[in-house]
Amino acid sequence: MRPIVILTVFLLTSFLAAQRKYPDPYKFEFKKIADDIYLAYRPNPLKALVEGNSTIIINDRDVVVFDATGSPRGAGQIVDKIKELTEKPVRYLINSHGHGDHTLGNQVFVKAFPGCEIIAREETRKYMSAPEGSTGKNRGIAYVYEFQTEAGIEKRIKYLQDEIEKVKQEAKPGYQAILDNLTEYLEQDLALRRKEYLSVEVTPPTFTFENQLTLHRGDREIQLLYLGKGDTPGDVWLYLPRKKMLCSPDAFVHPIPYGFSRNPLEWLETLKGVREMDFDMIIPGHGEIQYDKAYLSLVIALLETIQDQVKEAVQKGMSLEATEAFVKVDHLQHKFTQNDPVKTYYFEGYSKSPVIQRTYNELTKSE
Ligand SMILES: [Zn+2]
Repeated sequence: MRPIVILTVFLLTSFLAAQRKYPDPYKFEFKKIADDIYLAYRPNPLKALVEGNSTIIINDRDVVVFDATGSPRGAGQIVDKIKELTEKPVRYLINSHGHGDHTLGNQVFVKAFPGCEIIAREETRKYMSAPEGSTGKNRGIAYVYEFQTEAGIEKRIKYLQDEIEKVKQEAKPGYQAILDNLTEYLEQDLALRRKEYLSVEVTPPTFTFENQLTLHRGDREIQLLYLGKGDTPGDVWLYLPRKKMLCSPDAFVHPIPYGFSRNPLEWLETLKGVREMDFDMIIPGHGEIQYDKAYLSLVIALLETIQDQVKEAVQKGMSLEATEAFVKVDHLQHKFTQNDPVKTYYFEGYSKSPVIQRTYNELTKSE
């Protein structure tokens, strides 16, 4: 058989076999936050296939949604839920940032509610738009199109197989749980993700703003705020001053922070600014609602301790490799992981390692 045929058979058989085995990664659940506010979330934020939170705000005459989730199927469930709750249309969909797990459901909202505008920062629009001069399909968010090719899927299968092998070799305490987590993605979720991406048309925002945009809906004020670079330069926060409720982009993720910001120094300042704000509830980009500032302070402490130590390492002239060995976060790590092996695996891969690397890169680049 040709490799493509073998691969397709592999994906199909593994998909059919696995359907009975693992939970659906695109199945959303809903939580009522207030009479007219709902959170859509995918349970278990620590699956290898990540899905962003989405907040539904029902107003006097319309509905505002913060983030579209990462698939047409996820977004479809949210649209169905909205139609069940109200006859009012979604007038504004906000993209907290451009990453696919928050924006690849955009097309479903536009189709279901033809008047719907998608609001974001210009940086997000740029990230989701075709590079200048390109022809054919929209090439924003390149990995979507990689998923549509056999070569792109092969690359990911290979990566996962290598990663599984590495975890086996290292055999850290409780590593079987990590293997199970990665195997679930390899055997089922990767094929489901590809199926979704085959129907995705990257749909960029239609309405952009710089620093602040306020929507007045009856006596409700919905503030859309740029508070500095966070996970991306497009990061937007939604703030309801009366409800004292804040919705976050991926600058704030629970229970394990995403440390891939290319501006880690500014990210820390952004979070410190957020901590000064008056809110009783914060909905992270992923994970559970936080009703106090304890977890936010923990994330700030992690970024601070890494930054301090990387600065010291850079002053001593250390290489990146030496810096990675030099920086110690053990005193904070267990507060994130509670020594759970899967949490520890993602803490190392999503938080510690990328924050050290990117802080080092930013500090050495500016010198
Ligand atoms: Zn995300």
